[in-house]
Amino acid sequence: MSTQSCSSFDESQRELEELELATRMEQIGLKLLVLSGKGGVGKSTVAANLAASLARAGKKVGLLDVDLHGPSIPKILGLDGRRIAQSENGSIAPIKLNENLSVVSVGLLLDNANDAVIWRGPMKYNVIRQFLKDVEWGRLDYLVIDSPPGTGDEPLAVAQQVGKNALAVVVTTPQDVAVADVRRSVSFCKTLDLRIAGIIENMSGLACPHCGKTVDLFKVGGGEKLAAEMNVPFLGRIPLDPNIVLSGDSGSPFVESSADGIAARAFAAAIMPILNRTKQDDALFAKQHSKENNSMKIAIPVADGVLCMHFGHCQQFAIVDVDADAKTVTNTTYLTPPPHEPGVLPRWLHEQGANVIIAGGMGQRAQGLFAENGIKVVVGAQGGDPQAVVQAYLSGDLQTGQNICDH
Ligand code: ADP
Repeated sequence: MSTQSCSSFDESQRELEELELATRMEQIGLKLLVLSGKGGVGKSTVAANLAASLARAGKKVGLLDVDLHGPSIPKILGLDGRRIAQSENGSIAPIKLNENLSVVSVGLLLDNANDAVIWRGPMKYNVIRQFLKDVEWGRLDYLVIDSPPGTGDEPLAVAQQVGKNALAVVVTTPQDVAVADVRRSVSFCKTLDLRIAGIIENMSGLACPHCGKTVDLFKVGGGEKLAAEMNVPFLGRIPLDPNIVLSGDSGSPFVESSADGIAARAFAAAIMPILNRTKQDDALFAKQHSKENNSMKIAIPVADGVLCMHFGHCQQFAIVDVDADAKTVTNTTYLTPPPHEPGVLPRWLHEQGANVIIAGGMGQRAQGLFAENGIKVVVGAQGGDPQAVVQAYLSGDLQTGQNICDH
């Protein structure tokens, strides 16, 4: 797969790719991004089995694994050693697992598992873009996307590129520590305006192979409690099932090979709210969301009184309070940021209550750090008095050019 650096990216080429990506995404109904705050909670297992359960429900489903550093879908589906070829025009044909379910994993394209390790932020963005636009899925009802744990470059690149018809499924385990991680995923989604289909609590109790009941090994219910607290749906508990570990060897998703087991039934139940989503749900979300966003604090990096292109080295930040409903600026404060070091500005601006930053250029890594801190990033703005920039943003007239990468 070819990759191009951000700086050499030709503008007309980018426009063409945007168009190809939008066309591809239009052929796909709902995109489901499976996220987790940390690794090892069963995110890939859940992604594979959600996809298989939707396919069993008669839907056309694609499963895309863009975990560039540790793609585990091939192992889970018994596809280790298989390879996918990329044709000369760049298109990728998925592996058809059955009539309804096709799969593409970055692990099926890499010759060497270490290839991805050298990819940095902007490269990852472009690689993920190519995966999203180049796979010839045909028409799909659902595309389930497995990206790496956390809120780094890959989930960010997916969330920014799949378009609006997307929902996140957040996977956690019952232990409190995982629950703390999932909070970050939920605020990541909220920052990116990515709706949340719900939280799944995986490894929740043990599906006993002897009595057929679920035995609670740890304190369970953390995911459900968190879902209620954060006002997002709870999709259900998936118990630990020894057959899940074994199913990879059989080369078929677990829900296929153990369709009558407790865990497979739990997956079938977890997809019901997704299958039952209606346009009214989406309208309700939009309404609730606009209420949440009534008041905002917008941060603008400033040098010599105007927006400064290098946000990491600006003299001051203008923190502009706005009433988003009335689309007006209500107050502006100028603050001097702490000395520059990686990660400090997103944290500091979060502490100042900022929920949007309008900047000139910003690299992917920094964008990820802002997203983790609940701050939406608008890039490509140029110059101007902070209040005028914010006013233009509020009225939808803000001119944004190319993101000048600052790495
Ligand atoms: P992640 O993608 O979060 O890193 P994986 O999906 O790769 O996690 O799962 C990690 C390990 O846990 C795998 O060996 C997988 O088979 C196992 N696993 C995940 N969920 C379950 C479950 N509900 N029951 C039994 N084993 C599970």
